[in-house]
Amino acid sequence: MDDEPDAVPDCWNEETLGVTGCERCPDLVESRSQIVDGVGPADANLLFVGEAPGANEDEQGEPFVGRSGGVLDSELRDAGIPRADVRITNCVRCRPPENRDPNAEELGNCRVYLDSEIAAIDPDLVITLGKVPAEHLLNRDVAVTSEAGDIDEVVADGAAYPVLVCVHPAATLYDPSQQETFEETLRIAAEYAGEGGQSALGDF
Ligand code: URA
Repeated sequence: MDDEPDAVPDCWNEETLGVTGCERCPDLVESRSQIVDGVGPADANLLFVGEAPGANEDEQGEPFVGRSGGVLDSELRDAGIPRADVRITNCVRCRPPENRDPNAEELGNCRVYLDSEIAAIDPDLVITLGKVPAEHLLNRDVAVTSEAGDIDEVVADGAAYPVLVCVHPAATLYDPSQQETFEETLRIAAEYAGEGGQSALGDF
């Protein structure tokens, strides 16, 4: 890697909040058909963070457009949160081979982009979708099902942001009991989505 570990590489574009031509992860450069950047308004109150693009996301160039995206869309709708109003991104921007989890090195390589995106969006709340983003951002073990709905904190570019732990949308497909957990967690997110939403949870 040519870049200094903490320096934001040239392939990060602060204007588009996107990445061009990154080649930090050899396996992912092989497996991706494109880099999948975050989508949604640059002034969004809510920033959802998933793990990594799957096949559909890799094909369409947008996070959460496959089956998990369908679940996320309908749960957002039910919670009264328009998808168009939120920002959605992933810990890793390239599809891992055979949909394996991104490894620690890949997560580390992509972290500078995620931190830059969090700092640029400056959201009222970051919501982690599943175990990988929760553990990556919180830098500790997370029991996602039991911690869903809990608020912790991440520091990105020197500023602290509240992080709401949420189960992965796909978990509701395999285990319907997780749907209620997902719904309850999004109700908390909805309190942050409106104006002055943070006041609903005090100083956090
Ligand atoms: N799962 C994720 O974690 N991210 C996506 O973009 C799609 C599915």
